[in-house]
Amino acid sequence: MKFDTKVVRAGISPDPTTGSILPPIYETATFVLPEVGRDLGFDYTRSSNPTRQVLEDNLAAIDSGQYAVSFASGMSAVDSCFKLLTAGDHIVCGDDVYGGVTRLLDNVTVQQGIDVSYVDTTNADAVRNVITPKTRMLWIETPTNPLLKVSDLEEMVKIARENDILLGVDSTFATPVFLRPLEFGADIVMHSTTKYLAGHNQIIGGVIVTNHQHVFEKMKYIQKTIGAVSSPFDCWLNLSGLKTLHLRMKRHEESAMAVAEFLEGHNKIDRVLYPGLASHPQHAIAKAQMSGFSGMIAFELTGGTEAGKRLMNNVQLCGLAESLGSVETMITHPASMTHVDVPVEDRRKRGLTDGLVRLSVGIEDVDDIIGDLESALETA
Ligand SMILES: *Cc1c(COP(=O)(O)O)cnc(C)c1O
Repeated sequence: MKFDTKVVRAGISPDPTTGSILPPIYETATFVLPEVGRDLGFDYTRSSNPTRQVLEDNLAAIDSGQYAVSFASGMSAVDSCFKLLTAGDHIVCGDDVYGGVTRLLDNVTVQQGIDVSYVDTTNADAVRNVITPKTRMLWIETPTNPLLKVSDLEEMVKIARENDILLGVDSTFATPVFLRPLEFGADIVMHSTTKYLAGHNQIIGGVIVTNHQHVFEKMKYIQKTIGAVSSPFDCWLNLSGLKTLHLRMKRHEESAMAVAEFLEGHNKIDRVLYPGLASHPQHAIAKAQMSGFSGMIAFELTGGTEAGKRLMNNVQLCGLAESLGSVETMITHPASMTHVDVPVEDRRKRGLTDGLVRLSVGIEDVDDIIGDLESALETA
């Protein structure tokens, strides 16, 4: 199957008892056994569920993976990856990652005796320099949230191989439409399915995809043990959203490019970060390793924080909201919203200024999106 066919069909076959073209929502906690010691493939929904299984099969296929494990949220998926490590181990993490990941590492993971170093993963030498004999995992986002930094996956894979450590890639911003890290040799891919993969602001969910059987078995074990599972109904909604992923992403990208160009040409805008712009510091790598630049933009206004706030308070069509990747355009102030728990000094160090605005370009008519920004910018 080609990619677009996989998106719509992989892992999904008509229900054998009724012919229902869509998988039923198996909203059940448990499954009756025909006899002691024998089940029909399922025993308890915390362990597995037929609706979740269909979602996992589809997500594995579209990310070029053999195995997928669906979680209750992106964060429980990330946490479960970090649970592959034990006390005394060391994680190297990208210095620009989703604020929740920083919160998890700094306040929860370290309490389990795991050390963390943050490094700019757009610089391969810098990554090599922080690896120690205790390092067991390299965790990166590409493009990153919120600064849209792009890391060279071939380099990251090389570093992971040289040091015999796991490379985990949070690929939420890219989606399997534009980037499939397992094809580069990454060990684990993770998505917050809350974002583009479900795509309609209906659910919170996460997934990890891998080609390693030992990683898969461990993740299944962790999932079943801690119970961070996605509900059958959420899995069904996610499946429903996924069916148009390839079409949505094309539109997200097309409109994001137009919006990024509009912003870059506006006299009240200081800098625009979008991997599709020639001005983006890693534009060449993005172009080489991704088949598209996705729908996320970050920018700063000439008037700084106050101007940014006026813009965000005066948009009408764009929703001032956390989250991203949905059909609706959403605008976010990372410093006070998604990344509020990143210590101020760390935010400054990594270039996440108080004036930074993050835009998730939706699939409305792009003229309306630009029009909304244009009139809100008049107040900025
Ligand atoms: C949103 C997000 C997460 C967390 O996912 P949730 O589904 O909100 O738990 C992790 N990584 C990235 C890049 C995200 O954007």
